[in-house]
Amino acid sequence: MPDAAAIIPAGGAGLRMGLATPKQFHLLAGAPILIHTIRAVAQAPSIGTIILAVPADQLTTTRQLLVAHNLIDRVQVVAGGEQRQDSVNNGLTLVPETTEFVVVHDGVRPLVTAALIEDCLHAARKTGAAIAAVPVKDTLKAVDDNYRIRKTVDREGLWQAQTPQVARTSLLRRALAAAAHDNFIGTDEASLIARLGAEVTVVTGAENNIKITRPGDLPIAEALLGEKNSMRNSNAMRIGHGYDAHRLVEGRPLVLGGVTIDHPKGLLGHSDADVLTHALCDAILGALGEGDIGKHFPDNDPQYKGINSIKLLTQVMELAKKKGYVLANGDVTVIAQAPKLAPHMAQMRKNLARACDCDADRINLKATTTETMGFTGRGEGIATHAVVLMQQA
Ligand code: MG
Repeated sequence: MPDAAAIIPAGGAGLRMGLATPKQFHLLAGAPILIHTIRAVAQAPSIGTIILAVPADQLTTTRQLLVAHNLIDRVQVVAGGEQRQDSVNNGLTLVPETTEFVVVHDGVRPLVTAALIEDCLHAARKTGAAIAAVPVKDTLKAVDDNYRIRKTVDREGLWQAQTPQVARTSLLRRALAAAAHDNFIGTDEASLIARLGAEVTVVTGAENNIKITRPGDLPIAEALLGEKNSMRNSNAMRIGHGYDAHRLVEGRPLVLGGVTIDHPKGLLGHSDADVLTHALCDAILGALGEGDIGKHFPDNDPQYKGINSIKLLTQVMELAKKKGYVLANGDVTVIAQAPKLAPHMAQMRKNLARACDCDADRINLKATTTETMGFTGRGEGIATHAVVLMQQA
């Protein structure tokens, strides 16, 4: 159950970017930075309400953006204020009284992960407040107005604050009220909370959780975002396995991989009983998450009686194409005591590759006996295993 609300302050004009539109609206991989940030925050299971604070003159544009990106039902928009804490304060007016925690996250940190948000929440549930931060890596110099180094600052125990910054809702309200009362302006929520003497825990943040503040940050963020999305896109490659076995009987032709092979017995089945092609179809359907061959071509359907299974494979590949996949490669093992399959392999590969609309070298065929063991070894039937990797086209 969500016990937290998120406030995303994006009220700033982003002057450091030196550009006309506020930086939070700049495009990153085809969508405004802010949209990436909202999507990332919305992934955290503990987050219910999401409140976005934007410059007052951007309220309409922002709502249109949220509609365009299907986020309007998930996000409430408020006008930000002059300072960050004014924006957070305005956002807090929309946080339901029953919401225990508030997560404040910069609008221009689109690379935050749900895991980091949850880690900060976990820490805040124990101590009342927690923020993400990373230890300072570089050597720090104190420099004067003439660019002269005055001293090297010991970085021991120094951390760079990031967001998310999480606090118990009541604590954050008190901190903001106290700051307003004292005319204190802080650069983050933790500094306001610390003024109350309350404890703020640090959670190790992520180096990738960068804040986009300068034009040079955009290509870096774009590259990192691409990496994050490609890792998340687990559908780019899909694996599938297929297995089939058919009985060898007299009076039937033996068809394997679309090749009719001279043999005293053939495979029994509703179709041409091409066990090799069936296993390959099942592997592809498996990779697509589309069940099995029996679901698509029922063996009691008269239209499939005696059908050439290569036609079924062609239809399976049409389904794959419709779902946006091509065959990256397949590996097929036929288990048969007899006949010898080597002389037919090249033609089989050609038939299968044509149906799969790929080069023959993408489909590997192997045959093995079981040294007279089991039903294949006794010549009672032939079995086939197939594995495929399907790739998003
Ligand atoms: Mg079959």
